[in-house]
Amino acid sequence: MNDPDSRRSPAPSGAAATPWTSRAWPWARLHVRLARAAAVLAAAARSSSLVVPLLLAAATASAQPAPATVRMSAEPVADGIWFVQGESAMGSAANQNFISNAAFIATPEGVVVIDALGSPPLAERLLALIRERTRAPLRWVVVTHCHADHIYGLQVLQAAGARIVAHAGCREYLASDTARLRLEASREELFPWVDEETRLVVPDRWIGDKGDEADLVLDLGGRPLRIRHAGPAHTPEDLIVFDEKSGVLFTGDIVFRGRVPFVGQADSRRWISALDRMLQWQPRILVPGHGPLSHHPAEDLALTRDYLKFLRQAMGEAARNLEPFEEAYARTDWSRFAALPLFAAANRMNAYNTYLLMEHEGE
Ligand SMILES: [Zn+2]
Repeated sequence: MNDPDSRRSPAPSGAAATPWTSRAWPWARLHVRLARAAAVLAAAARSSSLVVPLLLAAATASAQPAPATVRMSAEPVADGIWFVQGESAMGSAANQNFISNAAFIATPEGVVVIDALGSPPLAERLLALIRERTRAPLRWVVVTHCHADHIYGLQVLQAAGARIVAHAGCREYLASDTARLRLEASREELFPWVDEETRLVVPDRWIGDKGDEADLVLDLGGRPLRIRHAGPAHTPEDLIVFDEKSGVLFTGDIVFRGRVPFVGQADSRRWISALDRMLQWQPRILVPGHGPLSHHPAEDLALTRDYLKFLRQAMGEAARNLEPFEEAYARTDWSRFAALPLFAAANRMNAYNTYLLMEHEGE
């Protein structure tokens, strides 16, 4: 099971083992590389006059990531805004890690991208979709949070000229062993979409540096985009972006739609209050980090909020009563959420992490 958002979740019994404990992967990758090389050599042998150019092409091709082939289309959100919607699934080589959303805004002074998707080839596809709509320069990428499915495409957008802004809460994570191990695991699970060429990109500009938590307003030719630190919620570093002109709010993973949220190490109490605070802007449309657009923000926040409240209530009661997690989990009636996508993959870990959090809150 690939768990792209995971940073350091301990596994309760019955959950999948942490993927980087696998030892088989280097051989699998070597096998794929050898198969590729053999195919190129066989083609060369069939046409001896082409041997040298083909070998040169093979050498070049081996350094190029495979182009993403998933279905991706840029859907209009509002005037000058589009988004791409990833699948409601765990990241895998089969879905090419296209499991999160990204968006772009064409301002009078260039393009601002929200999140970079979960691999360089996906970001290349996103870039091609941007180029179909505007030739204006890329100015910024706003990173809503530093989970793998939102940042592994950054290198492509940076190379295309964008500067990257994120919350300072990402800084420590990006420099950590956890981030390095996560990337190594992804190079295994998501190969060839994430490979040795994929790297962690350090943002160019930080919000929240030295405790300065003021909103950053990017005013690009009279279209102000307000970027606010809304964490700690889903992660310590959550940023949300509000386009005042259109009333579109980009929420990152503070809002999940159409699937069970990924809770990880989140501070769910603050997450719930961040959901409520977001509505003070009276957004017209929400672009969530996962799932479809919302034209009814207050109603569509409800799934994330209700789920978090339910987890806190059920696991909080168990923690207060010193009831073991396994018993509490087994006796909880999950039927309200059990039909949602990713329930089986995410709910147990979410409940376990919330149980630990509630134990801690109760201390
Ligand atoms: Zn995500």
